[in-house]
Amino acid sequence: MADSIVKFDQPQQSDLDRCVHCGLCLNACPTYRELGVEMDSPRGRIYQMNQVASGAPIGPSYVEHIELCLACRGCETACPSGVQYGRLIEAARADIEQRKPRPLGTRLLRKFVFGHLLQSPGLLKTAGAFLYLYEASGLQRIARSSGLLRLFGKLGRLESLSPPVESPFFFSQIGRTFPAEGQQRYRVAFLAGCIANISFARLNEATVRVLQKNGCEVAIPAAQGCCGALHVHSGLREEARGLARRNIDAVLGGKFDAVITNAAGCGSTLKEYDELLEHDPAYAEKARQFTALMKDVNEFLASLELNPRMGEMPVTVTYQDSCHLAHGQKVRAQPRKLLRAVPGLTFREMPMSDLCCGSAGIYNVVQNEMAMSILKSKMNYVNMTSADIIVTANPGCMLQLQAGSRMYGQGRRVAHVVEILDEAYRKYKE
Ligand code: SF4
Ligand code: SF4
Repeated sequence: MADSIVKFDQPQQSDLDRCVHCGLCLNACPTYRELGVEMDSPRGRIYQMNQVASGAPIGPSYVEHIELCLACRGCETACPSGVQYGRLIEAARADIEQRKPRPLGTRLLRKFVFGHLLQSPGLLKTAGAFLYLYEASGLQRIARSSGLLRLFGKLGRLESLSPPVESPFFFSQIGRTFPAEGQQRYRVAFLAGCIANISFARLNEATVRVLQKNGCEVAIPAAQGCCGALHVHSGLREEARGLARRNIDAVLGGKFDAVITNAAGCGSTLKEYDELLEHDPAYAEKARQFTALMKDVNEFLASLELNPRMGEMPVTVTYQDSCHLAHGQKVRAQPRKLLRAVPGLTFREMPMSDLCCGSAGIYNVVQNEMAMSILKSKMNYVNMTSADIIVTANPGCMLQLQAGSRMYGQGRRVAHVVEILDEAYRKYKE
């Protein structure tokens, strides 16, 4: 196994050395705020990474503290020393993945999910069809209301967090090109995600409509696929590289002004394809070109002269920063600017809006207890705002906040920024 270790997929000493142990990041760390344990703080995790880099064995305690990290990158924003914590945690996980074999059952499950399910539109469609039947037949309602799911432990919790299925799936739109409304100003590619094609099909449609309203011809490249964000966050960097090459090939050559995503978690990884492929001579330059085109939909729309033909939206909204948008991509002002452009809408900031909600990719499934505890704290902040709608910019955060709204909130609606814009455009009357 030692022969196959990829050195650049381990935490680099030069990155680790940037930490001066000041502790200014501690208050920005959700796991430290919940537990008050140094080893579950950014500084403590960097200390442990340093020990492993100096030759200490990778033990169960190290794996536990690294896995309990949300990879939310709140610490990166707080750090005055420029520690690139996102790089470090992803490399630490890749290192564990390379050097610490998991139990057979876990390996097989991970192989199926990461190696097959997320990468195959056919398998995702089949899984979506089963989930749709489960929901539409009433089985899900019975299973949830009877308490039956509690008997299945982790599997039951997974079911309760599984995203709803939205039929018809967005897969049917892949390969199509949608014309701009009015004069065409831009030609953009839209990356529709993987699970989002079955669970956020309406959000994807809304995104296309809002882009069309703003003078964009929107192409949905046929050869696109999963972006690899969940792979990167789980330490599977080689698998992520394969997916990155596929998306780069799907987009480059299409003469696009921008490549758009509506998922902050995906966007963060898509914008880092250049880092992921920096050691690949055939793709390093292509990855740089791809990364230069990559834009979150909020970032892109806020950079335009926004089409003002929106109807009144007499609602009060608050905004939860998606970690991978605020901390990963440094996109904070843009979603707020877009929301404030909606006529009649009242915007109310919540305290600690950029503290993670506990979603973090599949974190709320694999670290359910911590995710729920973080969510409960988050909902206290949301409830202080008395907003009608919680708005955010990432499908994963939407699911987590919906669960929070049901469990600890007042049943508030959760929406994506582009869904609010889409509704406002639909309400416009000449
Ligand atoms: S990424 Fe988030 S959870 Fe992990 S150490 Fe940094 S602030 Fe804490
Ligand atoms: S990560 Fe940054 S803020 Fe945190 S202890 Fe190290 S230098 Fe200080």
